[in-house]
Amino acid sequence: TLTGKTALVTGSTSGIGLGVALELARQGANIVLNGFGEVAQASERVSAEAVALRYHDADLGKPEQIAAMMAYVQAEFGGLDILVNNAGIQHIAKIEDFAPEKWDAILAINLSAAFHTSRLAIPAMRARGWGRIINIASAHGLVGSTGKSAYVAAKHGLIGLTKVAALELAETDITCNAICPGWVRTPLVEKQIEARAQAEGIATAQAQRALLAEKQPSHEFVTPEQIGQLVLFLCSPAASQVRGVAWSIDGGWTAQ
Ligand code: NAD
Repeated sequence: TLTGKTALVTGSTSGIGLGVALELARQGANIVLNGFGEVAQASERVSAEAVALRYHDADLGKPEQIAAMMAYVQAEFGGLDILVNNAGIQHIAKIEDFAPEKWDAILAINLSAAFHTSRLAIPAMRARGWGRIINIASAHGLVGSTGKSAYVAAKHGLIGLTKVAALELAETDITCNAICPGWVRTPLVEKQIEARAQAEGIATAQAQRALLAEKQPSHEFVTPEQIGQLVLFLCSPAASQVRGVAWSIDGGWTAQ
């Protein structure tokens, strides 16, 4: 059980982040949600687990807003025990057509934000003598795909950051690991399914099958709940010597 522990999950109003927050809440952790969109709906689902719940609206592309969020967590709960860096965005275009401001936004939200939250969380974790930092990377942290230069670069970078954090914290009870999901059916992926259906003039269901068939040998989506369960394992005593890994949960994507 995680009773008495406080967890911040960035980008947790939807998709994987919400799934992770729900699993942590079911284990009794205090939860801090972050992200845009369906805030009320996400809050309602997490508070149904009867944990202490807070929300902060920091835009993770903005370091000063990240600092405000970290100070808020400290003020509300006196510390942070579990940090899940999950917020992420996607943009697809060939390198020569890729808008530079999209590149900057993806690097800021998908990579630099995890540096800033970690930088600000580690001192208090050291003081309390325990911590878990879990970075939601991607199969694209391990292999590339066309059209995803910024995303693939950011996710490879996030795995690099994970390794360095794990080494710097190796002699403490603070671990840092990355999780590398394959396709999970979230709004981020639904947009890609729709784009594919449009581009190829096919039905949504057919586009979904094509998307899976291209990359994911199981032909099945990973679920947010499964990723939440992996987060719970990484938070457990059994995982105290799992350090600096990039753990795939991808239906076989990166086994190819
Ligand atoms: P999603 O679009 O459902 O959720 C993204 C979350 O991030 C939302 O809560 C959104 O409000 C928040 N967010 C976006 N920009 C933000 C910003 N600037 N500041 C704060 N919050 C912001 O996407 P998802 O699929 O659940 O993705 C979550 C993470 O998982 C991302 O890092 C993504 O790269 C990664 N991932 C997803 C898949 C997949 O197949 N869905 C696969 C591998 C990795």
